[in-house]
Amino acid sequence: MDKSKRKAIIAGNWKMNKTPSEAKALLEELIPLVKDADCEVIACVPYVDLAVAIETTKGTNIKIGAENCHWAESGAFTGEVSTGMLKEVGVEYVVLGHSERRQYFGETDETVNKRTKAALAAGLKPIVCVGELLWERECDITEEVIARQIKLDLFDVSAEDVKKTVIAYEPVWAIGTGKTATSDQAEEVCAFIRATLAKLYDEETAQAVTIQYGGSMNADNCDELLAKTNVDGGLIGGASLVAAKFQPIVAAASK
Ligand code: PEP
Repeated sequence: MDKSKRKAIIAGNWKMNKTPSEAKALLEELIPLVKDADCEVIACVPYVDLAVAIETTKGTNIKIGAENCHWAESGAFTGEVSTGMLKEVGVEYVVLGHSERRQYFGETDETVNKRTKAALAAGLKPIVCVGELLWERECDITEEVIARQIKLDLFDVSAEDVKKTVIAYEPVWAIGTGKTATSDQAEEVCAFIRATLAKLYDEETAQAVTIQYGGSMNADNCDELLAKTNVDGGLIGGASLVAAKFQPIVAAASK
């Protein structure tokens, strides 16, 4: 395992928080705090915040991501946003298959796969979220669940494209609950994801993919989680909404 082959990525997932003026204020506060980061820093923000977020972070080291995208270029899909729309406003990353999308909005591995392929085709970098439910972990089927999600979500994605894809391991029971996976649990599943990628592609490809942990990561637990060999960064919900809580995680990933 060679962590030096991969750049750590810390991405905030703002979810349905922050109006455009609040987004501007948060980013303005964050810019000086993370300007010397030795990791990639991303803010994934609601659609209506994208334009102001991109304008505010121009010329800084903060990249902007969206929280979803549709797979069609255009058409009768009320409420959806296409990859072309995101590209035109300057978005670089897009979160796909978040457990909240799967749980509340009927997202399936099939639609995650379609969205992932559309994002890659448009030159966006997907952050594909996978993770088991609590009862799946209790039934000792975490690896089956994760392998299935990885295989289906990345179906027909080339080795070249998978290297541009970030995988976020987010145990559903740890998201927004204050319950964090232990660093050993996170490492175990992130290593399993890498082994699954090696089987599906090859070892060199698997080593090149950034695998994040997400689930109640914060200033107190980030050092231990990010020290693990296969944990290359974090997808951060709650702690990304306050600059002073997000900055220590960026600092930990920069060590
Ligand atoms: C998330 O939404 O991806 C997430 C990890 O949330 P939180 O950090 O709040 O658990």
